[in-house]
Amino acid sequence: MHTVVLGAGLAGLATAFEIAKAGGKVTILEKEDYAGGMATSWQCGPYWLDHGPHRFHSRDEELIRHIYEILDNQVVIRERLSRIYMQGKFFHYPLKTQNLLQNMPKGILMKAAWDYAWIRMVQLFKKIPDDNFENWVLKRFGRTLYEIFFGTYTAKAWKMPCTEISADWASQRISQANLWDTVKKTLRPPSDGSVRSLVSEFWYPAHGGIGEIGRKYAEKIRAMGAEIHLSTPVVRIEIDGAKNARRVIGMKDGREHAFECDKVVNTMPLPRMLEAFDPGIDDEVREAISRLKYSSIVFSYLEVEQPSVSPDHWIYLPEKELTVHRISEFKNFSDDAAPGDRTVVCCEMTCRRGDEIWNLDLEGAAKIAARDLETVGLIERGSAKGIDIARVRYAYPIYDLTYKENLETLKRAAKEIGNLHTTGRQGLYRYNNMDHSIAMGRRIAKTVLKGRDARAEEVAAGQEYFG
Ligand SMILES: Cc1cc2nc3c(=O)[nH]c(=O)nc-3n(C[C@H](O)[C@H](O)[C@H](O)COP(=O)(O)OP(=O)(O)OC[C@H]3O[C@@H](n4cnc5c(N)ncnc54)[C@H](O)[C@@H]3O)c2cc1C
Repeated sequence: MHTVVLGAGLAGLATAFEIAKAGGKVTILEKEDYAGGMATSWQCGPYWLDHGPHRFHSRDEELIRHIYEILDNQVVIRERLSRIYMQGKFFHYPLKTQNLLQNMPKGILMKAAWDYAWIRMVQLFKKIPDDNFENWVLKRFGRTLYEIFFGTYTAKAWKMPCTEISADWASQRISQANLWDTVKKTLRPPSDGSVRSLVSEFWYPAHGGIGEIGRKYAEKIRAMGAEIHLSTPVVRIEIDGAKNARRVIGMKDGREHAFECDKVVNTMPLPRMLEAFDPGIDDEVREAISRLKYSSIVFSYLEVEQPSVSPDHWIYLPEKELTVHRISEFKNFSDDAAPGDRTVVCCEMTCRRGDEIWNLDLEGAAKIAARDLETVGLIERGSAKGIDIARVRYAYPIYDLTYKENLETLKRAAKEIGNLHTTGRQGLYRYNNMDHSIAMGRRIAKTVLKGRDARAEEVAAGQEYFG
């Protein structure tokens, strides 16, 4: 039985790894000239660069052991440090009492407490529905915190009003249940350390950036005899009369190459996979595809001639006046990311493919990024130089108010093909993390090998906190 995997991100690699390990025949087709997908890293002079901060964290002990196995135990554990820049000051995130009390103007603290008490009281008389991101946050944190952080940051990072964003996103990305819960956890962290450790500790490859996971997977998969075809975008999936995929066509060196298949596991973006179907999809599916949107990101990498810019792994910049919404410093993830006397700061800017941010060149992006870093006081004027730029088109699926019904239409179309599974962040249009994509890939491999549904779709499907 031959399985063809579409995409060599972590989901596709994990799938192929498990199939190959069990002795199965598997081939991966990947559009880019590297394996690892969004969780890739590359060298630029003396630096290792990632697509923004990529920390691996999980509560699943077995999955963590798996990562150690893939990385040949070359792993470092880091104590997360991340902050938010608000009102001209830096605040720890998750919040810490002393830092909050010291830095936040007392007037704002009192207003936040009053707003929270007010919204709780209002809810005794009137139920506020969880029908969008704004309402979800307002009823749990009050208007002041919504306006100075949650709302401002989210509208900026998503480039759309919070009333048009689904509440699903809030529940998966905000670790505290409400303001009172935040205050309690800040004053007295939970003794079992559960949520705190998920939030505060993470694993990272000792060498080669986060992309080392993808590289090691690829190395091990090839060593087991499986094929990975890089620079081979999937252009067509030929489906027979019994609604099974029979051949996958990849474009390599300007020529079409056909790969016969018994099973297909898709991890490339779901809309693009459906558009490759031959015979093609119907108008209803095309229509749903046109309504599913993605947020893209431009990453500007600034070299700074100083040993370090901050001790943080990343810093959120919610202020509307700044274009950059988050920065990260790879040196703080692993020692080999930069030499001792210099550092690189990665500055993220949200955009839509084709807009003016997307079209910035290296210099243009660096100019905006450096200006923002100077504004927040992290670097001196003229001390940073743009050394690289990266663009990720399918960075985030946009959970707008209609995404669920559009997505259902796409998933139904994919399910019609009997021998095809779709999984991973892109294959499911799901806002999940690396550990989830790996877990999904490993479960799909079980499904393929045993012919029994190993419930890959249940990974990261709930309302639990993803971090
Ligand atoms: C800025 C940012 C920060 C993040 N930070 C974290 C973090 O701190 N922790 C965390 O756990 N997760 C983080 N993530 C999420 C993490 O990157 C993803 O969950 C994970 O990498 C997804 O893996 P995947 O294999 O599911 O998808 P992808 O990595 O997107 O893989 C899909 C693959 O399909 C390929 N492909 C596309 N089209 C075709 C085609 N036509 N033919 C063949 N191949 C094709 C792509 O090139 C890609 O390799 C972050 C994501 C972003 C954008």
